[in-house]
Amino acid sequence: PPYADYIRSRIRTVPNWPQAGVMFRDITPLLQDKKTFRVLVDIFVHRYMDQKLDVVAGVDARGFILGAVVAYELNLGFVPIRKKGKLPFDTISEEYELEYGSAIVELHADACKAGDRVLLIDDLVATGGTMIAAANLLKRIGAEVVEAAAIVDLPELGGSKLVQQEGISLFTVCD
Ligand code: IMP
Repeated sequence: PPYADYIRSRIRTVPNWPQAGVMFRDITPLLQDKKTFRVLVDIFVHRYMDQKLDVVAGVDARGFILGAVVAYELNLGFVPIRKKGKLPFDTISEEYELEYGSAIVELHADACKAGDRVLLIDDLVATGGTMIAAANLLKRIGAEVVEAAAIVDLPELGGSKLVQQEGISLFTVCD
């Protein structure tokens, strides 16, 4: 999409964090700059403003930052998908595999209504496990995941392909 190079230029790669061998994509420079933050939010707002969405769901924790602002700008409510043990009410859970071990994401059972058209937002797609698990939570309560969206795709990890193989439309701004 347009602005992909601009957005990419404000994402920094931190080698060997959080562990040796990992090249961590750090989006904080993108968020802290008033111009790039606005351009970033506007990319999502323009893409989804005419999609007749009902709600935006964001993934813990960087998906909250972008997801909540996009929801506000689209005049929609915001639903958090959280790591295990953070949501206080009736929750449903999805466990998924990580490179070492597994992780669990949770959603409040009453987070949206059956048939709601939901935009799912996270910051980055790596193996795709988080996005697929989050989409499964929404589907289990009857929501329609109109699109999953993230700022960054790491295509060499194959996650974006997996997400699409699950029948989930995926939008990312840059790689
Ligand atoms: P996946 O489940 O392997 O696709 O990993 C994606 C999840 O891990 C997202 O929630 C990201 O926030 C986080 N993540 C993995 N790698 C990075 C990275 O390099 N930068 C920022 N977040 C990352």
